[in-house]
Amino acid sequence: MTHKPLPAPTAYDAITALRCLICGAEYAPGEVRYVCPHHGTEGILDVVYDYAAIAAHTDRDALTANHRRDMWRYLPLLPIAEPRFIPPLDVGWTPLYHAPRLGALLGLPNLWVKDDGRNPTASFKDRASALAVVKAQEANARTITTASSGNAAAALAGMAAGVGLESVIFVPASAPQAKIAQLLIYGATVVLVEGTYDQAFDLCIAAANQQGWYCRNTAYNPYMTEGKKTAAYEIAEQMGWEAPDRVFVAVGDGCIIGGLHKGFADLHALGWIERMPRLMGVQAEGSAVLYEAWRRGVNEIRPIVPHTIADSISVGVPRDRLKALRAVRQTDGAFVVVSDEEILAAMRDLARLTGVFAEPAAAAAVAGVRRALADGQVGRDERVVVVITGNGLKDIPAAMRAVEGEGKAVRLPPTVDALMAWLHVQEKD
Ligand SMILES: *Cc1c(COP(=O)(O)O)cnc(C)c1O
Ligand SMILES: [Zn+2]
Repeated sequence: MTHKPLPAPTAYDAITALRCLICGAEYAPGEVRYVCPHHGTEGILDVVYDYAAIAAHTDRDALTANHRRDMWRYLPLLPIAEPRFIPPLDVGWTPLYHAPRLGALLGLPNLWVKDDGRNPTASFKDRASALAVVKAQEANARTITTASSGNAAAALAGMAAGVGLESVIFVPASAPQAKIAQLLIYGATVVLVEGTYDQAFDLCIAAANQQGWYCRNTAYNPYMTEGKKTAAYEIAEQMGWEAPDRVFVAVGDGCIIGGLHKGFADLHALGWIERMPRLMGVQAEGSAVLYEAWRRGVNEIRPIVPHTIADSISVGVPRDRLKALRAVRQTDGAFVVVSDEEILAAMRDLARLTGVFAEPAAAAAVAGVRRALADGQVGRDERVVVVITGNGLKDIPAAMRAVEGEGKAVRLPPTVDALMAWLHVQEKD
């Protein structure tokens, strides 16, 4: 393995507080581990920085000059106390592709696709899990745990394997097989909860508290946003430090869109980008809890029993709702809702017109671009980035459904005659 130079120092000493999203109470990093004690699991914390202190030891050009091609190139903006615990797997610095053919189909020439399915465990969740294993080691934990609808679990199991931590994972028994296979192959202890993701979430927190395991749960652990924000840094840097007009991303719990918001807000506060992109949260019709709250102009959600083919965004009680709603409202963005049929069509279009294979939740973001254009919410000349959050190999049955009656497979005997006869018929069609 080649030695990868780490830029130093980190933003750990620039943390001024962990601030409760509900009551605004502020804590020092060592004072509370996860949430505001006054508000239980609802008391999600924001990591707040002194940007002048960050600016004193780094700038845009120094970052760009760093040779590391992963999320740790942004170490000067990350809340890491002990860089020696950084996992060896290459997370982040995923490609940003200009997508002119998909753009032509949608009527949007300036369209880019950020392929986060290229991460080590094939989803965006690696960014948060990579940070989680650093924090777990800083806390001297031997075991790390999470509840997840699938990808966060696979990411944590993979990152834990990379550094030699034990992992205990709580997933709904209904999670897709490929994701469960990932957990098992990485050596995680897997608890298949006979219940919903929401029930698995609560069970995991109870277990972590009793056993002293480090808990990575989305929204509950304040540092997950900090890992996810690195995708915003990459988008800005890959576009020459000129932020796009809009970023579309699928939303379930709301942690990813909250992380993107944090990342762009950091860059804006540092003066490294001139304006914030509008953040567009895409939800599935059967799981549109945040869309409903946004439309009604409130923070309270009405929990539902979610139902969508896009398992990664199938969430009845979005845990990071405050960060997600804030991300959309403060950037003058919007929430968009798409149907399962639109998601399956987007999987096909994205794959055929860019070569990027997305799982249903990730393709929902593409479907959201199409819907927002149809509704006149997006100008044709805008520069738009769509984040592909997970790889299509995560859910083969969904991919097969997407090509039902659309695929081009033919079953033939292994003879040239049979092939020629078939090609001949095709030509006549
Ligand atoms: C987790 C996930 C999302 C949604 O992220 P949230 O933070 O739950 O909003 C979207 N797509 C994929 C592939 C995911 O794994
Ligand atoms: Zn509080």
